[in-house]
Amino acid sequence: MKCTPDIDLRDLEEMNINIDPIQVGGRLTADAMKAVIAYGDGYSVCDNCRKPFRLDYIEKPPIATFHDDLAAFVGMDEARVVPGARRGFQAVTGTYVQKGDPVILTALSHYTEFVAVENVGGIPQEIPKDNQNIIRADAAAERIEEVSRTFGRAPALLFVEHVDYQFGNLHEVREIARVAHQYDVPVLLNGAYTVGTMPVDGKGLGVDFVVGSGHKSMAAPAPSGVLATTAERAGEVFRTTQVKGDITGRTFGIKEVEMMGCTLMGVTLMGMMASFPHVRERVNRWDEEVANGRIVVDALRSIEGTVVKSEMPRRHTLTRVDTSASFDRIAETHKKRGFFLSSALNKKGIVGVIPGATKVWKFNTYGLSRAQAEYVAAAYLGIAEENGISVSS
Ligand SMILES: *Cc1c(COP(=O)(O)O)cnc(C)c1O
Repeated sequence: MKCTPDIDLRDLEEMNINIDPIQVGGRLTADAMKAVIAYGDGYSVCDNCRKPFRLDYIEKPPIATFHDDLAAFVGMDEARVVPGARRGFQAVTGTYVQKGDPVILTALSHYTEFVAVENVGGIPQEIPKDNQNIIRADAAAERIEEVSRTFGRAPALLFVEHVDYQFGNLHEVREIARVAHQYDVPVLLNGAYTVGTMPVDGKGLGVDFVVGSGHKSMAAPAPSGVLATTAERAGEVFRTTQVKGDITGRTFGIKEVEMMGCTLMGVTLMGMMASFPHVRERVNRWDEEVANGRIVVDALRSIEGTVVKSEMPRRHTLTRVDTSASFDRIAETHKKRGFFLSSALNKKGIVGVIPGATKVWKFNTYGLSRAQAEYVAAAYLGIAEENGISVSS
């Protein structure tokens, strides 16, 4: 079967167990798949757009209500949908960062955070991680202090990852937000790996902005995401257009500048909305997800020479492991070289690991059933034993 002569069917998720870190939280629900088919046409959500002509005011389908629900879901006052977490970052840097302004990021920040800063001419200043790969509040305080001295002014903004993409570690968000606010620095929580998979309470954490990714963690099509903020900050980041055509005198109502007026006008938004009731429920089952992840982590740790690089015990389903002293030893002499591992996994129906990687690699067990997690754990143990690596019980 093919979609078109040039486009193959994609049945990766149907035919395999996928543990690709970036894909597992974005798999569509069946309801999203239905919405995607029904709303696939371009500007499909605009059928019933009426004055004042803005996406977040549309009542049919219930887009306005969805915006309220989204804000509540992340514990904030106002929310907008955006084309990916990165566009949420960009809206915030576009509002607060001027050319030459220092902006605090972390040693574990994602490239999209850096690019959002670069886009407006800001100067990234990283908070170092500690030797456990955690971003701590004391390091944040030191960096803010140092940057303020160097630049003669406080940083314009601080980004902190709720969970980072390298280790899947949780950081000292609440404490960092408290420190930043002592210097009047607004705080953006990057929830790309948390909003939609685990409970997130932005106001509880004391942050000014919560950004989430629809396609990473909310079972939504790409590109989609959410930018939520407090009532105090909403007027700034969601400010409305003030320009006027010099010949025609036209003005543009209540279109929001950072949102370029309207954002997700069709399939992305409807997929996100259709999945939302499921997403809201699934965050309450986060403990089970973490427990399933630990089954695989425990199996890997029992393979001699394997080291888990992420914080222990695991508090997230994304984990980084170093198998330089286990699977990579086999790769040295195996006829398939480093490809032996991914190839052995693929044979067992496990996909989403980088082909050839046997040193340091990541996996994400989010969404696996208990039985699937046990199967993945057993698969790693089996591959180790087949290749003569000892496994402790
Ligand atoms: C994936 C990811 C992003 C980018 O998310 P998009 O929705 O694709 O823009 C940003 N930050 C982190 C930590 C990520 O893991």
